[in-house]
Amino acid sequence: MSLVRVEHLSKRFGQVEAIKEISFQVEEGEFVVLLGPSGCGKTTTLRCIAGLEVPDSGRIFFDQEDVTDLGPAARNIAFVFQLYALYPHLSVYDNVAFPLRAEGLPKEEVEKRTEEVLKFLQIDGIKHQKPRKLTGGQRQRVALGRAIVRRPRVFLLDEPLSNIDAKLREITRGELKKLQRSIKATTIYVTHDQVEAMTMADKIVVMNFGDVQQIGSPHEVYHYPANLFVARFIGSPGMNFIPGELLQKERLGVIINGSYFIPLEEEQLRAMEKQDTSRKVILGVRPENIALTEEGTIKAEVYVFEPLGAENVVTFKIDGHLVKAVLPGDIYLSSGEIVNLHFKEIRIFDAQTEKLVA
Ligand code: ATP
Repeated sequence: MSLVRVEHLSKRFGQVEAIKEISFQVEEGEFVVLLGPSGCGKTTTLRCIAGLEVPDSGRIFFDQEDVTDLGPAARNIAFVFQLYALYPHLSVYDNVAFPLRAEGLPKEEVEKRTEEVLKFLQIDGIKHQKPRKLTGGQRQRVALGRAIVRRPRVFLLDEPLSNIDAKLREITRGELKKLQRSIKATTIYVTHDQVEAMTMADKIVVMNFGDVQQIGSPHEVYHYPANLFVARFIGSPGMNFIPGELLQKERLGVIINGSYFIPLEEEQLRAMEKQDTSRKVILGVRPENIALTEEGTIKAEVYVFEPLGAENVVTFKIDGHLVKAVLPGDIYLSSGEIVNLHFKEIRIFDAQTEKLVA
């Protein structure tokens, strides 16, 4: 498997700038997800890496080799669109052996490599069965087997789970991640689904309008979103945003609605020292970081109470602003009730640039 490096890649379709000078690196064996809304340039990026699209500028490297001018066949990649698309009339064995036979490899070589992969993926016991007899998980293994039997340098997957139902998708996510780790396959996976990205990726490249917004681990993009776009795109229910102003009291904090003061953490104060930020900011707080408290500084009215069993989603009204909180399932509140709230782990964004400040 190879390391993949994309440098300043750009591609236009007429007036549309599908991708604009994007750069990122995928380490050998790493699982990288390209995540973003429809039309942000994910598929174009993947197709450029596959050699199915010619970039206007920029370079693509597999290890030290510049592959930008190579055709798709010479790149030795496996491009998987749907993990369930198997040849229905062929057995498991023949599905996996298919790419090797298509390449015209000698019979013994085909047999050796096919058996190896079947064993490795633990599907050798079902090798004579046809796809319709298989469970979803088994089909996925066969599809992966067919992709890895060629020993590609990199796996490219474009929304491979989009056509399966939600329950199966949940199971498949876990299986796929496990398999990817075990074969240490360098993988680039395109999706618009932030849950898929968060659960499977080692590293997420968040894109919007052909630009890279942030590159980071799931933990980084969730807890330290680089800007309001990333903060909004990741997490469900999404992060709450409240306009405020920086204010120096005993320590620096944010005042919202001119009345509620929330002091910054030490780490945030240090981050603030290094930047020149306008006074106008947006305070961001994730729903799970809002708690009820006896003597909180923020008074709120219960607006909507949605019990989900294990937890409750509660929409509060803080003066004019609606804010969603995820509270433990054993807390019951009724509409109109007035409570005190405490915000933990707040994030501060510059109101003008929309970038994370602290
Ligand atoms: P989706 O999930 O909807 O496929 P995406 O993030 O993968 O979205 P791309 O398919 O890469 O986005 O498209 C990026 C932009 O380039 C879009 O505005 C799209 O309409 C445009 N585009 C992509 N391919 C072509 C093409 N062959 N001809 C013209 N425009 C294209």
